[in-house]
Amino acid sequence: MVQEKGTISIHTENIFPIIKKFLYSDHEIFLRELVSNAIDATQKLKALASIGEYGGEIGETKVSISLDKEAKTITVSDNGIGMTAEEIKKYINQIAFSGATEFLEKYKDKQEAQQMIGHFGLGFYSSFMVASKVEIITKSYKDAPAASWTCDGSTEFEIGAAEKTTRGTDIILHVSQDSEEFLEAHRLRGILTKYCRFLPFEIEFEGKVINETKPIWTKSPNDLTNEDYIKFYKEMYPTAEEPLFWIHLNVDYPFNLTGILYFPKIKQDFVFQKNRIQLYSRQVFITDEVKDVVPEFLTLMHGVIDSPDIPLNVSRSYLQADGNVKKINAHITKKVADKLSELFNNDRKGYEEKWDSIGLFVKYGMMTDDKFYDRATKFALLKNIDSQYFTFEEYKEKVAPLQTDKSNRVVYIYTTDLDKQNAYIESAKKQSYDILRFDGIMVDNHFAATLERKLENTLLRRVDSDTIDKLVDKGETAAVILSEDEQTKLKDLFKKISGKETINISSLPADEMPVVISLPEFMRRMKEMAVVQGMDYMKDLPAFLEVSVNANHHLIQKLLTESDEQRKEQLALQVYDLALLSQNMLGGAALTRFINRSVNLVS
Ligand code: ADP
Repeated sequence: MVQEKGTISIHTENIFPIIKKFLYSDHEIFLRELVSNAIDATQKLKALASIGEYGGEIGETKVSISLDKEAKTITVSDNGIGMTAEEIKKYINQIAFSGATEFLEKYKDKQEAQQMIGHFGLGFYSSFMVASKVEIITKSYKDAPAASWTCDGSTEFEIGAAEKTTRGTDIILHVSQDSEEFLEAHRLRGILTKYCRFLPFEIEFEGKVINETKPIWTKSPNDLTNEDYIKFYKEMYPTAEEPLFWIHLNVDYPFNLTGILYFPKIKQDFVFQKNRIQLYSRQVFITDEVKDVVPEFLTLMHGVIDSPDIPLNVSRSYLQADGNVKKINAHITKKVADKLSELFNNDRKGYEEKWDSIGLFVKYGMMTDDKFYDRATKFALLKNIDSQYFTFEEYKEKVAPLQTDKSNRVVYIYTTDLDKQNAYIESAKKQSYDILRFDGIMVDNHFAATLERKLENTLLRRVDSDTIDKLVDKGETAAVILSEDEQTKLKDLFKKISGKETINISSLPADEMPVVISLPEFMRRMKEMAVVQGMDYMKDLPAFLEVSVNANHHLIQKLLTESDEQRKEQLALQVYDLALLSQNMLGGAALTRFINRSVNLVS
C-alpha cells in the first residue's frame, strides 16, 4: 500500500487546540457539520445523475451514524459522491482547511466568535473539537480506487489506498478523552434530533430513521390541510395549546425563504415565551435564537424559518446590517400584516374573539416598528369595558363628540385594572365617558404612550388620573359652594395630615368620594415601568400625589362644623386614608393605624 505523508500548509503551528478553545460551548455541532457534508455529497450524486453525468445505480441514499463504545469511535457514513485521493488533497487539505484558517483569522476575539449565530463555517474540521484522530475512508463515484486519510489533529496527515468497495464516504472519529460524553447513545440521539430532524435524506441511528425528510414547510400550501399544520405544530410544541392561525412563508425572489409561523394562544401576556422559532438552513437546524433575523415583536411567534440566504458565519452586529436579513425582516412583517388584515376583513367576529392573543403581537409590533404601525392602524382594535371592539377610526368617531378637552383634543380614557379602579370607573360611567380596557400588564402601559405619541390631537388618560374631570368640557358640574374662608380651613387641615403643600378643592357630585387622590399620568407610567424593572418607586411617590377634597361631600362639610379638634383630625385622616386605600397605596403601619382608627370611630 502506498502511503503518502504531507503537511497541511498553515501559519499557526497547531490550529486544533485553538479551534477547541474558541468553540468551547458548541462542541456538539461537529455532528451537524459531518451529517450536513454527507447530505451534500448525496445531493450532489443525485444532481449528477439527473444531468446524466452519473449513469450508475444510485441505490440507497441513507446517511448512517454508528457508535462503537469499545473502540471509542463515531462513524458517519454516506453513499454520496465520495472522493478520490486527489479530491481529498484538494477538498480536505486545502478547502476545508482554508475554511478553518479563515475563521480563526476573522474571529481572533473569542467573544465575537461566540456571538455568531450557530454556524461557524468550520465544516469538516470541527470534528477535531471532539476527536483526537479522524479517518476518512472514501470511494468516489468515478472509476477510481478507494482512498484513506488520517490526521491526529496535528498539522500532519497521511493519505493512502483503502479497501472500500462501495461508493461513498465513512468519516471515523476517534473520540478524545475529554469528549467521551459523545460516546453516549442518548447524547448522540439528542444532537441528531436537534439538528438533523428535518434533513432531506434518511438519517439512521441505531437501526432507526430519526428524521422527517419532507417537512411540511417544504411542501406547497395547496397540498396541505389545516390538520397538517396543526399536527406539525403539536409535534414541535407538544405542551402548547392549539395555534390561532399560521402563515406559510414561501419566497424565492429576491431571497430564498420558506417556513411556517404560528400565532400561539397566549393566556397571560407576561409569561410569553421567546425562542420558539427555529431557524434552519436547507433543512439543517441552526438555532432557536432568531432575534436578529425576525422582527423583535414576532419572536413571540412559534414555528420554523428556513433560508440559505441568511449569512450564518458572521457576528450578530454584522447580521443586523445585512441586506438580505433586512429584506427578510421586512417581508415577514408584511406577510404578518397581510394575514391579520385578511382575517380582520374576512371574519371580524372571529378576529375579535382572538384579539386578546393577537392584540399582544399587534401592540408590540406597533410600538416597535413604525411601518407595522401604519399597516396595523387598519386592523388594530381597541376594546372597551363593555367588551366592544373598535378600529381606531371607529373609536375616534364614537368618542370625539363626547370627550374633548378645551383645546379640542379627543380624550381617551382607559383602565388598567377593573377591580382596583372600580370607583373611578363608576364615576366616569356616570358622566357617560367610554372607558377602554388596557389591562395587559406588560404591554399596555407602553402602548398608551405610543398611541398618545402617534395619534393626532388625542390624549390618553387613565381613569383615575387627576385630569379626567378637569379635561372634558361638558358644561358645569356643581359649583363650589364653600366660601374662601372655609376653603382655606379645609386646605390647612388636609395640608397638616397629608404633609402636602397644595390641596385642591373640587366640586365633584356629592355621592363621589370625599377625598380623591391621584397620580399625574406621567408619574403613573413611571411607576409602572419601575415595577416592571424592579425599582423602588414608593419613596418618591407621595411627593407627586395630588389631593382633591370634594367640597360637595357631606363628610367634608361636617369637618367644617366639627368643634372637637381631635375628632375633626381623626375624621380628616380617615377620609384621606380611604382615598389612599382605594388607590392601593395604603400599607404597613399606616394600614394598621387606619384599621384601629376605624374601630374607634365606629364604636
Ligand atoms: P464545506 O462543506 O463548507 O465545503 P467542509 O470543510 O465541511 O466545507 O468540507 C470541505 C469539502 O470536503 C467539501 O466541500 C466536500 O467537497 C468535501 N467533503 C467533505 N465531506 C464529504 C463527504 N462526506 N463526501 C464527499 N465529499 C466530502
